[in-house]
Amino acid sequence: MANHQKPATIAAQAAGQTDQTTGGVTPAIHPATTFLRDENYDLVAPQNTYLRDQNENARAAEDVLKQLENAADTLLFPSGMAAIAAMFRSLPNRATVLVQSGIYWGATKWIRDFCARREITLHEADASETDAFTAQISAQKPDLVMIETPSNPWLKISDITAIATATHAANGLLMVDSTAATPVLSRPLDLGADVVMHSATKAINGHSDVLAGVLSCADAEADFWRTIQTDRHDAGAVIGPFEAWLLLRGMRTLTLRVERMSQSALTLAEKLETHPKVERVFYPGLPSHPAHELAKSQMNGGFGGLLSVCVKGGAREALAVAGKLSLFHRATSLGGVESLVEHRHTIEPHTGIPENLLRLSVGIEDVGDLWADLENALAQV
Ligand SMILES: *Cc1c(COP(=O)(O)O)cnc(C)c1O
Repeated sequence: MANHQKPATIAAQAAGQTDQTTGGVTPAIHPATTFLRDENYDLVAPQNTYLRDQNENARAAEDVLKQLENAADTLLFPSGMAAIAAMFRSLPNRATVLVQSGIYWGATKWIRDFCARREITLHEADASETDAFTAQISAQKPDLVMIETPSNPWLKISDITAIATATHAANGLLMVDSTAATPVLSRPLDLGADVVMHSATKAINGHSDVLAGVLSCADAEADFWRTIQTDRHDAGAVIGPFEAWLLLRGMRTLTLRVERMSQSALTLAEKLETHPKVERVFYPGLPSHPAHELAKSQMNGGFGGLLSVCVKGGAREALAVAGKLSLFHRATSLGGVESLVEHRHTIEPHTGIPENLLRLSVGIEDVGDLWADLENALAQV
């Protein structure tokens, strides 16, 4: 896909889409579920029969995402999990998959259940250990490899190019959950991935008011992609017009938001790293991060708005800091314009998340105000 416009231009102008009917500079919302036929029983607009078949607002948002990813095709889903599920449902029964360990917990949990039901052999391993992970790919020849980079909440970085090469040598497909990187900072398809997935609920929409997911592929003719297209249509995992329209609207400022979130997250990570009440900071933008050089090579323009902090002490101290914050909302999720803090151990006590870990999603507020909030909260424990 030749595309010479930069992401900021594609996003701000919604890939050039306007409203042809009224001349409006923004596309309209089309909520109709069914479409007229004339007296000869021909469709008035031949592409439009029923909303599950063709959804103009979804198509408009998919167009923007497709260009941002440099993809051959893009499909929206009603949530990030629905997008992950769509990819896994394209696998045959008794397939083999290799999934990165320590990723988004909702994905891990659903994948384990699904693989058990479908007699799919599931392997889980740390994808940030490139040599061991690629050796495992060569040995197990998985049909699908799934990685998440940066990972959540550990902020581990996996080598997309090396893992894609090993996966293709074993005749498998590589899917990258790139939610934390956003299409602004990383383009996994350009690095060799077959599919890139995002929870568009996060930074892509960016305003904490839409649930959506997206898959983009490098080869729209591939069998697995055809299966996903058919399954989305026939099984009906489609996004509503209003959600798709909000997504298109939110994406106009995507590059600005991601730039600001990344700058502020780096500033806060640097300050937190030297704070006497902080034990450790996980952020790929810090030179102390074990894969900082790799992150620099596969992320462009910043390292995202997500970071994790281990407060000195245990659960009590971490929860006390979270409790004293007033600008950072105590809530799950990430990628919104407003900053959030989450004590992951409370949410998933059985997965080995340190009890003193706080995950921060840095928004677009004034970074001085955010630091004052963190400094004040840390001072009180
Ligand atoms: C939120 C999230 C998901 C799931 O997306 P939903 O839109 O909540 O269904 C998957 N992966 C990552 C990395 C996420 O942050």
